[in-house]
Amino acid sequence: MTEGLHDANLGVHEHGIDSATGLPGRGALLEKLNSLPRNMDVAVLCIDLDHLSALNEAMGLSAGDSVLAEAAKRIATHAGPSSFLARYGGDEFALLIESVADFEQVSHKASALIEELMHPYLVAGKEVFVGASMGIACTLASQLGETQKLQATTVDQALHHAKAALSRTKVVSRGRWLLYEPGMTPVLGARLHLETELALAVEQGQFLVYYQPKASCRSGAITGFEALVRWLHPTKGIVPPSEFIPILEETGLIDRVGAWVLRTACQQLAAWNISGHDKLTMAVNVSLRQLVDLTYPESVQAILLESGVPAERLELELTESLLMHDVRHTEALLFRLKALGVRLSIDDFGTGYSSLAYLKRLPIDTVKIDRIFVQNITTNPNDASITRAIIGMARSLNLSLIAEGVETEAQLSKLVAEHCDTVQGYFIGKPMPAIHAAALLTSGWRLPQELIGRPTKTRTLLLVDDEESILSALKRLLRREGYRILSAGSGAEGLELLAKNDVDVIVSDQRMPNMTGEEFLRLAKELYPDTVRMVLSGYADMQSITNAINQGAIYKFFSKPWDDQGLKDNILEAFRRKELSDENGRLTREIGLMNEDLNRSNKALAVLLEEQARRSLLGQTALSAAQQTLHHLPIPVVGLDPSGMIVLRNDAFVELGMEEDVISSFAETLPSWPSTVVSYSDHVDSVGRRWTLAGRNLSSSGQYSGMVFAFVPRSPT
Ligand code: C2E
Ligand code: MG
Ligand code: MG
Repeated sequence: MTEGLHDANLGVHEHGIDSATGLPGRGALLEKLNSLPRNMDVAVLCIDLDHLSALNEAMGLSAGDSVLAEAAKRIATHAGPSSFLARYGGDEFALLIESVADFEQVSHKASALIEELMHPYLVAGKEVFVGASMGIACTLASQLGETQKLQATTVDQALHHAKAALSRTKVVSRGRWLLYEPGMTPVLGARLHLETELALAVEQGQFLVYYQPKASCRSGAITGFEALVRWLHPTKGIVPPSEFIPILEETGLIDRVGAWVLRTACQQLAAWNISGHDKLTMAVNVSLRQLVDLTYPESVQAILLESGVPAERLELELTESLLMHDVRHTEALLFRLKALGVRLSIDDFGTGYSSLAYLKRLPIDTVKIDRIFVQNITTNPNDASITRAIIGMARSLNLSLIAEGVETEAQLSKLVAEHCDTVQGYFIGKPMPAIHAAALLTSGWRLPQELIGRPTKTRTLLLVDDEESILSALKRLLRREGYRILSAGSGAEGLELLAKNDVDVIVSDQRMPNMTGEEFLRLAKELYPDTVRMVLSGYADMQSITNAINQGAIYKFFSKPWDDQGLKDNILEAFRRKELSDENGRLTREIGLMNEDLNRSNKALAVLLEEQARRSLLGQTALSAAQQTLHHLPIPVVGLDPSGMIVLRNDAFVELGMEEDVISSFAETLPSWPSTVVSYSDHVDSVGRRWTLAGRNLSSSGQYSGMVFAFVPRSPT
């Protein structure tokens, strides 16, 4: 009977029974190994199911679980007496066989187990194939060679050695088993060391949270942060998450670290809230593994309560592959999270399956476009259209949109033009310690106004007239046009208003004391060239007004009394003209930035081409050197094409004066000459000289075909 399974069935829980397989975990296995008599020969088989993560991706976690459970059963059934089976990690089992007599017994069992595990599994009515790889360590020193004996496995090392052998199997021969050999340790050693260090890091709290700002494309202001974990390693310094998150996930430590990150980030948000930044949001990454825990929503709720952060200010970022997992399981969990009031976003969108159906069905608030699309958005039309499609889709599903990895002005301008809501990336700021993030907030940093434009800006009109009644009449006339109307009683007052406001269109009276309308508008042109300027006058000093028009200071002239509809239409047209020129300016800037990008790419290309030209020159020189060498070789050499035609002859061959048909006759035997080795044949030419022909068929040796012969003179016998 396989003890592990037996223990599990009896519900012995002291080492944590794995719920998917009913097997004990690695703690129990280590204890078992330690309890064995030192002189007993044992074998440890570490078994890893291949492609389990792909299966999880494609069919959901529960599919993976059912395969694990079935695999556990198969192994247990074939394990035989005096064995102990444990679930060692995500998709790994370890089988301990006690009192081993010889290695043959173990190797037979290993092969049989692999074969057994190769059989298809029935998952949701479908047959799926999941292979297995195995690493074995045996303590049978008696069966090792003399040199190996020095490094033979001991009971203490058996598990490490079996894992090392497994790592090697996965690299060199998946679907097989390998027996541990000295030298396999380092792969395992490094990994095991990392796992141990990480466990310690969790115990000692060696983690930090960095915060990366996000900014609104509309207002330009920082709207929130993403919390990104870092490991502050005692000797290596800051370690990025890509190097340890996968291990935390595999070892299950992610639950603790994830909860810690969430708590820290919420506490930080609460602190910023108190210091007046009370609109910020905080995004926290959630690992798929954390969602397996059905109590996850409760722990999120507890952290929200404890920190006092309103739920809607927390955004949980889930990776897109989650949508492909067991939807029934995750769907329920996501709705429970959503019921707390938190926001949910899909991270790295576009890199996985981008399933629209699930986006619609699940309670998702935000889509984060992955940075690989943003990276090339200004240079690669495909990436640009994917981004546009994602933005369009998010709009139609009423989702907010964040673009990740924005590094340049050009990328930002492009995203603004595509109506992206929020941006995140090095252009706004790298992930940074809380203290730097706080400084950034206090500095009032914003995206440059000229890059985000003012798409929702209200049309602003400035009226200048010294007669109050005219100003009132104009205001009345334009009241319903939706303009923001500013009025001034003199040119000087008008200039003051221009300095304080972002004015689009100016309508000024001509005849005013101190400064005429024409003079005022000339000044306005100098100071605010983008404004559209018009004159309204009863008294026509036609000459000066015509001059002003011709010099571009005035766009249009109207005479008093005016025609209401005509004036309204003209003011509207002036606004449209202004907006068109704003848009042109923005596009010109964007083109300028794109050109800069293009210039950079062109320069890089030019360098590359130069390098290639240099290499090809080197290649040509080498080739002509080879040709010359061949021609001057003191041994006759001749080359034939597959039809037997001579295509190459060197000087020594020409000097030989050999009849060419003699050579051609050799060509007939060409197909029978092996291509990989030099073959020899003896030959006596028409003048009685004896030669050994060393020949080689080139047919399968590369880009040339045919045959090459060298004539080696033989001494007369
Ligand atoms: P992510 O959630 O997609 O986070 C964005 C990653 O892109 C971060 O890498 C960030 O530094 C990087 N990034 C942001 N802007 C730019 C840019 O303009 N250019 C470039 N080249 N990179 C940029 P980081 O911090 O190394 O994190 C990597 C991944 O690790 C994260 O990807 C996330 O999936 C995971 N991660 C980080 N912290 C946690 C955590 O607390 N829990 C979990 N489960 N995963 C985390
Ligand atoms: Mg993220
Ligand atoms: Mg991302």
